[in-house]
Amino acid sequence: MPIYREVSTEVYCDICGERIIGWNIAGTGISKIWAAYYARQEGCTTGKKIICKQCRIKQRMIKCGLQKRHGTAGKDGSGACLGFGSECDDEPIEQCKRCIACASFDWDAEKKRLSL
Ligand SMILES: [Zn+2]
Repeated sequence: MPIYREVSTEVYCDICGERIIGWNIAGTGISKIWAAYYARQEGCTTGKKIICKQCRIKQRMIKCGLQKRHGTAGKDGSGACLGFGSECDDEPIEQCKRCIACASFDWDAEKKRLSL
């Protein structure tokens, strides 16, 4: 009789419970280390807690010092922060662009930075 074993590995956000990424792989499956690696590539943090990209953005906005000082910044349709522009420009300031909550944050560059 054929024996088929498939191991599923799933990564869930510790905050919102959303499923981030998952695999069904025959054999021994994917290691937790690799699962965490791919979750980070999806914009998650994988410390003691797994926190998805959306929750990271929400938490970052709550902690944002600029918003505390200058009031709430706008959000785009996906919930990303539009940041603060300078007096003469709507383009978000550099500090905002480097923030993961910002709509202008370069997630592709972040992905590359985290790539092996
Ligand atoms: Zn989440």
